[in-house]
Amino acid sequence: MKRLLIVLAAALLIPQVALAAQVQALKVTVLSTMLAEPGLGEWGYAALVEVDGRKILYDSGARPETVLGNARELGVDLSDVEDVILSHHHGDHTGGIVTLRKAMMAKNPKALSRIHVGEGFFQATNTGTRAGVPKLRSDLEATGATFVIHKGPDELAPGVWLTGPVPRVTDEKNYPPGPDAIPEDQALVFETAEGTVILTGCGHAGAINIVRDASKITGGKPLLGLIGGLHIFDASDARLDWTGAELKAAGVKYLLMGHCTGLEATWRLRQATGLTRKTAAYGANGSTFILGKGINPGRIAG
Ligand SMILES: [Zn+2]
Ligand SMILES: [Zn+2]
Repeated sequence: MKRLLIVLAAALLIPQVALAAQVQALKVTVLSTMLAEPGLGEWGYAALVEVDGRKILYDSGARPETVLGNARELGVDLSDVEDVILSHHHGDHTGGIVTLRKAMMAKNPKALSRIHVGEGFFQATNTGTRAGVPKLRSDLEATGATFVIHKGPDELAPGVWLTGPVPRVTDEKNYPPGPDAIPEDQALVFETAEGTVILTGCGHAGAINIVRDASKITGGKPLLGLIGGLHIFDASDARLDWTGAELKAAGVKYLLMGHCTGLEATWRLRQATGLTRKTAAYGANGSTFILGKGINPGRIAG
């Protein structure tokens, strides 16, 4: 009987260990943000993810040509990237995708052909903010691209999760004035042996809402790195200090901020988390996070 119990206990334990797929190699390179050196800056965001031999484009910048030009200047090839994630529908994240798809499909018909969006991306609102979405959809579908709609967390590859719509569990309001009209806002979450890495575009779902969602997805792993825009550039000092305290409590080791996080907000997060200029910065175009190495925000930002 005792032996049977031991066997049963072992059988119950093993699958839990085996389930936790982990990312081995991860590099994130910023291709559009507000700090330009090299390339062109803009109010927008885009980053290339290289994870275990697979490439994913996360967002596409604001202006049609920015990411195309910046990738060229940085020597980044996007023609072998098939998956694109649009964090949400705002034009500063979707403005480059049609140009990029058309430019890259000349080299590879499958390039940038699978577009991942969160549920609600196509949802009509009465604010008029989605005016460009139907055209974006028809322009992309006319090239043969297809959309994948995510209703909740989906594992795109072992240890690589897309959150889909993020539950709002805090009172954060990391979005433009008015009601929360961006239900589709989604982040990429990477499960690594060192902890969880999050890549977010505008963070409209709320920085800490996203961190808590990622923690749920990864089974409570500590936060290793947070990359991207958090839309806290105009947040109050109290809100910034709270956000920093929450990030510290989550165990954050690296902050590679960009886009709508803001410069002052990044500095305050660095102070509140106890990180340093080597581990927390507002990155420029070409800035990187590399698993096992940390961040390189660029010469002007470091
Ligand atoms: Zn936005
Ligand atoms: Zn944005």
